[in-house]
Amino acid sequence: MNQDGYRTIRGNLFGIAGIKEIIANKFYCGYVSWGQHPNWNTTRRKNKDPNHLSVKGLHEPIISEDDWNLAQKIRATRSDKYPRSYSGEFPLTGLIRCPQCGYGMVAARTTNTAKDGTKKCIRYYSCGQFRNKGSAACRANSVRADEAEKYVFDRIKSVLNNENILKKLVATLNDKRTSVISPLEEELKALNEQISKCLKRKERYFDLFADGSFSKDELTEKIVDIDATVENLKKRETEIRKEIKDNSTEAVPYKVVKEVMEDFNTLIMNTDKQNRKFFLQLIIDKITVGDNHKIDTIDIQFDESIVNLMKTYTGGKPDGLPPSFIFKLVI
Ligand SMILES: [Zn+2]
Repeated sequence: MNQDGYRTIRGNLFGIAGIKEIIANKFYCGYVSWGQHPNWNTTRRKNKDPNHLSVKGLHEPIISEDDWNLAQKIRATRSDKYPRSYSGEFPLTGLIRCPQCGYGMVAARTTNTAKDGTKKCIRYYSCGQFRNKGSAACRANSVRADEAEKYVFDRIKSVLNNENILKKLVATLNDKRTSVISPLEEELKALNEQISKCLKRKERYFDLFADGSFSKDELTEKIVDIDATVENLKKRETEIRKEIKDNSTEAVPYKVVKEVMEDFNTLIMNTDKQNRKFFLQLIIDKITVGDNHKIDTIDIQFDESIVNLMKTYTGGKPDGLPPSFIFKLVI
């Protein structure tokens, strides 16, 4: 449909959820429904009453009732055959980003039949936008799931076990933090000097007025001018202070990062599939894929609340943690 140039009423590409809604809508085979979504104002589509009233409407149906019923039957049989949720089986769902469009990649499977007739299921991650909206939106850009997952687990472990790599990553990150903040602090200092200069000049103008060198009009003009300048400087000062605050989470000690990574590794290695997926989703911000369809980088991100949450699972005690921080690590 998308490929043939059809678009939604808003001019967007059709998605699976929208198509499903259309196919299941009895309106198209000539019916009008009441009470299908009780409390629509608050709950919208989420609240569906299966016993709602449905009667033949006056409008002309665009498909026959038989076709509509057939479509529902086909949907019902297909939904058994292809379970939509693989729950814990694709732990990196949404984390791996499509190298082409940046959307999260989702679970996909193909079944290959060998010459001797044995069937083999191969798992992939493929572009979520492609899967939802088809080839008009993006391409599959599939990544083998087994390989991707193995790479992620191995990479986390190898970074953990190589003290030099981890130390370097932490140092670079803490350096970067300082490199953002120190120019801002410089600017803040310069701003404050300018503001106090302005205020001194203002005093001098009042003195000049007092000893008769300035007329009242001249004084007013100068003061209005200075006040406007000071106001602009103060506006910028507020901006800078906010920016400093946003960036000034404290430097995170190597020891803390090492501990967090160890806990993370323990949790994803030992727990059941559901928990493993939960922790991967919690701590990995995104995984990028290179042109070769292999994983390029793993962006890890954690803050004090995530660290504390992991501690409740591992039974450890948070130790030497800065009071508030966000830490991003690219491995
Ligand atoms: Zn894509």
